[in-house]
Amino acid sequence: MNLRVKNVGEIVLTLPLRSKESEGIDFVRANSKWLERKLSEPRTNPSLEQYFSKGGKVSLDNETRTVFMSLNARPRRRSWSTKTEGELHLSLDPLAPIENQLLSLLRSLAKDWLPPRVHDLAEFAGEEVQKIRVGDQKSRWGSCSSKGTISLNWRLLLLRIDLQDYVIFHELAHLRHMNHSPAFWAHLEGSFGRSAVEMPTFAGHLVLEVGPGIALLGTSSAMRDREPDIARVLQAFGIAPLGYGIYTLGFYRYFSEPVSGVALGAWALPVVALMLACFGLWVARENLANEAPWLRDRLNSFLVILLLIAATTVAIDFGVVPLGPDLSFFSFGGGVTFSLASLLVTFAAWVMWFLLAFWCAAFGTRSGRKRYLDVGVTAVGVGVVTRFFDLIGGQTGTGVLFVAGGSVLVGTAWAMEKWRRQTLARMGET
Ligand SMILES: [Zn+2]
Repeated sequence: MNLRVKNVGEIVLTLPLRSKESEGIDFVRANSKWLERKLSEPRTNPSLEQYFSKGGKVSLDNETRTVFMSLNARPRRRSWSTKTEGELHLSLDPLAPIENQLLSLLRSLAKDWLPPRVHDLAEFAGEEVQKIRVGDQKSRWGSCSSKGTISLNWRLLLLRIDLQDYVIFHELAHLRHMNHSPAFWAHLEGSFGRSAVEMPTFAGHLVLEVGPGIALLGTSSAMRDREPDIARVLQAFGIAPLGYGIYTLGFYRYFSEPVSGVALGAWALPVVALMLACFGLWVARENLANEAPWLRDRLNSFLVILLLIAATTVAIDFGVVPLGPDLSFFSFGGGVTFSLASLLVTFAAWVMWFLLAFWCAAFGTRSGRKRYLDVGVTAVGVGVVTRFFDLIGGQTGTGVLFVAGGSVLVGTAWAMEKWRRQTLARMGET
C-alpha cells in the first residue's frame, strides 16, 4: 500500500490487486497526521528568476546556454539575444513583474525553437509529423496523439540539449508505436542512434585498444615457434592498438569525463577487453620474449600495471573511483584545472610509455634484434617530443615555444640516432 501527495494537492492511494477498499481507507486514516503535514507544506517551486540567477541554463539553437538577465528594456519592449555563443541574454522591462516576463519570453522562445527542432529530428529519424504544439503541461514533457500531433512542454527549454532531443525522439517513436512496448523501445533506440553497449567515455574506447592489444601480443608469443609468420602478424596487430592506447592515455587528464547512470551494457565491452588482456598475459607469461628471462619478467609486470591503469580509467569514468580534488595550473589566457585522479593516470601512462620503450631497446640489444632496438629508440624519441608539446599545451602557437619545440624535436632525433648507432656498434662487438 502506498500513499503519496502530488504537487497539485492531489492524494494518490495505491492498493495491492486483491485488497479491500475499506483497508485502504483505514490506511489513509492511520496516516492522517502525515497527510495533514504534507498538505500544509508550502509549495516549493523555485521561480525562473531564482533559477536563472543561480546559473540555470536554457537549451536553444543547438546549444545549452547560460541565461543573463538585465532590466534595461523600455516599457513593454522586452527582448532576447542568442548572438553570443553559449549565452542567452534577456532584456526585461524593470517596471513589469519579472517572473511573468520570463515565463512569456521562454514560452515564445520554446514556440520558436522546438517545432523546427522536431522537424529536423523527424527527418533524421525518417518520420513525418502532422502538427506540433508547445504548451504549459503540468506533469508531462511531451505527448503524441493518435492523429500524429506532437505536444511538447515549453519547459523542455530548461533541459540539457541531449535530454531535450531524447524527449522529442521519444514522442517521434510514438508515431510508429502508440505504446511503450519492447518494439517501441527498440525503435526509439534505433532512431536515437544510441545502443546499450555504447562506450560513453574516452576510457571505454581506450580499454578497447589496450585490452585486445595485450591479448594479441600474448597469443602471438604462444605460436611464434610453430607459426612464426602468423605470430608476427598478430604481434603487429597487437602492438599498433596497444601503442596508440598508451599514447592517448598520456592525455587522459583532458578527457576524463565521469558519467553517472551508465547503462549496464556499457560495462560489457571494457570488461570483456580487460578479461581478454588477462588471458593474453596468462598465455604470454612463459613465451613472451623468452630469450631474456629477466627482461621477460619485467615486460610482464609492465603489462600487468598497464592493465591496472586502463581498468582504473574505466572505474574513474564510471564513477567507481573518486576523482579527488581539482588542481589548478598556470596557463596563458586563464588557468586550467585537472582532477588528481586524472593527473595520476596521465603521469602513470607517461612513465609506462618510457618504460616499455626502454624495454624494447634493451631487449633488442640483448637478443640481437635490430628491429626492437629501432622501435625502442624511436618510441623514446616520440615520447620526449610529444610529452614536451603536451606539457606546453596551448602555448604551441607562440613563436618562442615554436622554436623551442623545434629544437627539442631535432635534438631528440639526433640523440636517439646517436644512441641507436652506439648500441648497434656495441652489439656488433659482442
Ligand atoms: Zn511515451
